[in-house]
Amino acid sequence: MLSSAEIRRVALEVGFDDCGVARADALTDGEYPLRQWLAKGWHGDLQYMERNVDMRMDPRLLVPGARSVICCVSSYDPPDSAGGVAAYARRREYHQVVKEMLFALRERLGIDGKVCCDTVPISDKHWAARAGLGWIGRHTLLVTPRWGSWVNLGEIVTTEECSEYSESYGSSDICSSCGRCVAACPNGALAPEGPPMMDVRRCTAYYTTHNPRPLPPGIETRGYTLGCDLCQLACPYNRKNILPEKKKVVSLQHENN
Ligand code: SF4
Ligand code: SF4
Repeated sequence: MLSSAEIRRVALEVGFDDCGVARADALTDGEYPLRQWLAKGWHGDLQYMERNVDMRMDPRLLVPGARSVICCVSSYDPPDSAGGVAAYARRREYHQVVKEMLFALRERLGIDGKVCCDTVPISDKHWAARAGLGWIGRHTLLVTPRWGSWVNLGEIVTTEECSEYSESYGSSDICSSCGRCVAACPNGALAPEGPPMMDVRRCTAYYTTHNPRPLPPGIETRGYTLGCDLCQLACPYNRKNILPEKKKVVSLQHENN
């Protein structure tokens, strides 16, 4: 049996900023409203999301006999300005960086396991929330208390049993009195209530990343040519990271603006 504390210690040594271990059983529809999102057609033409739905919900279908999902967080610098290229795309290709650290972690722990970073049918952010590393914000990204959503994520799905499993952050109740990201989106892409969901057909990033599509009338890019950070820039958990004078634990209740 692996020590969860030891996993975290080694994860920090190989370069991650945080690490949690989740029990590998199925995510609930409440934790990950994938089926609801697909039923609304809010995935646009991302047909790959219609495939492997059961596997996306349950990592034991990805790795038979899986017992644990080791979830890791790597933070990155917030953008120093809005517009142009989204923050995540301004650095070295993150899949490569995160995977290198996951391979190093797996080797140091001496375990077998599948290394995942956005490229296999498992939702990095929902597993990170299950592993207690943050919650799914209304902008549909993982929000960590310390780095906001300026984070990259990756996992090792393993058949190893771990000594202790993290508590899930559960739902995004923490966002219920805020809604700044919803208001900041120029295209109304984010659901204002219910489970956090995005209509990708109304999101700038859908048209400017991966498989660029012609921009339809009514979609405002606000100067972004690759991706978009507007909903993230509106989040108090991110603003504390871009405004040095606000470097404090943000309390939505006590914020003045
Ligand atoms: S990335 Fe931009 S367009 Fe997409 S949901 Fe956020 S604010 Fe809206
Ligand atoms: S802006 Fe507010 S509602 Fe949106 S993710 Fe951040 S805290 Fe939650």
